[in-house]
Amino acid sequence: MPGFELFSDLERKEVNDVLDNGVLMRYGFDGMRNGHWKAKELEAELATTFQSNHVQLVSSGTAAVSVALASAGVGAGDEVIMPTFTFVASFEAIMMLGAIPILVDIDDTLTLDPKAVEAAITPKTKAVMIVQMCGSMGNMDALQDICNTHNLLFVEDACQAIGGTYNGKPLGSIADLGCFSFDFVKTITCGEGGAVVTNNKDYYINADHYSDHGHDHLGNDRGAETHPFLGYNFRISELHAAVGLAQVRRLPEFISIQKRNYTILRNALSRVPGVTFRTVPKGGEESYAFLNFFLPDAESSQKVIEAFKTGGVDACWNYYHNNWHYIKEWNHLKDLKSLFPISTEVKKGLEYLQTKTFEQSDSYIARNISCLIKLSWTEDEVKARAEKMAKIIKAHI
Ligand SMILES: *Cc1c(COP(=O)(O)O)cnc(C)c1O
Repeated sequence: MPGFELFSDLERKEVNDVLDNGVLMRYGFDGMRNGHWKAKELEAELATTFQSNHVQLVSSGTAAVSVALASAGVGAGDEVIMPTFTFVASFEAIMMLGAIPILVDIDDTLTLDPKAVEAAITPKTKAVMIVQMCGSMGNMDALQDICNTHNLLFVEDACQAIGGTYNGKPLGSIADLGCFSFDFVKTITCGEGGAVVTNNKDYYINADHYSDHGHDHLGNDRGAETHPFLGYNFRISELHAAVGLAQVRRLPEFISIQKRNYTILRNALSRVPGVTFRTVPKGGEESYAFLNFFLPDAESSQKVIEAFKTGGVDACWNYYHNNWHYIKEWNHLKDLKSLFPISTEVKKGLEYLQTKTFEQSDSYIARNISCLIKLSWTEDEVKARAEKMAKIIKAHI
């Protein structure tokens, strides 16, 4: 997945453009910048890449989720349904707005189970946020139907699925709002950065203002700005945007390398009895950022992961006890360990985490192995790796 593996002179050239005129900020300084608007240029390129009318760059993927929800008016006491398998950023971004993350089971797509979503809807539910984990997607049609029926906002966290598609549409561009991260380990990187993507002009204008102190960005050189509402600072810098500009132009190349490497590994593992793969909905095409497969039971996946480690197969994980990605070890959330007081409404809203169990998620995550697809592997390296992995799996299940 990581674009940083193929960092090159192209990125350096874009960054040097910014350093040469010294305007590191994306807004204002119109005269000084000699026509360099890296953030604006990157937004235009991303709009094309993600086939969306509007793109607002922000400082991170986590900021993108907060800004996306805020731009559609999600706030204090609102419930946002999200999956048990994601990155901690998902609930952080929701809680930052005083909203309440409602975690629900995943299915064999490794993200939201539509039945679990439907069962979690209450009068307080405002949004459903799917997380397109590890380069693939959930059942978008069923989730969109549920959101339509219950008049809910549909948000896609596509931070890990840059370049994946559903019915030919880029992941992140399908729901009302999409969120991307360009942190250092994502498919394309800015170093740090993120984006909110939408076809809704009002959400876009809100995101533009909200991510820069509520400034409305009117007038030449910011001369006529007012504050239609309160905001924060989630800006990206010109330096970060410059890196992203070089990276986004290389996305097709990155995806084709990922696809080649993924396909070699998948073909080898599909010949191993007992190995099955995550379900990719019909019409979906993964970004090939990860290869995810299931083994028959939790014990064999533990044994295989251990054997991968001792056998020199790196970058593969079982997420069951992973405290970045799975609810099992999120004790700081369950125990509400906050630096500062949290509202009683949010506290009450999160009480369900004390008792609710997630057997269905457990059953998928415990049997899952997720392998990062690197861009820097040569074809021969991937072939050798595929053979080694198949051999280890056969010996342990
Ligand atoms: C990386 C990631 C984020 C957060 O992105 P940052 O840019 O690191 O803040 C959010 N959601 C998912 C699924 C991610 O993988």
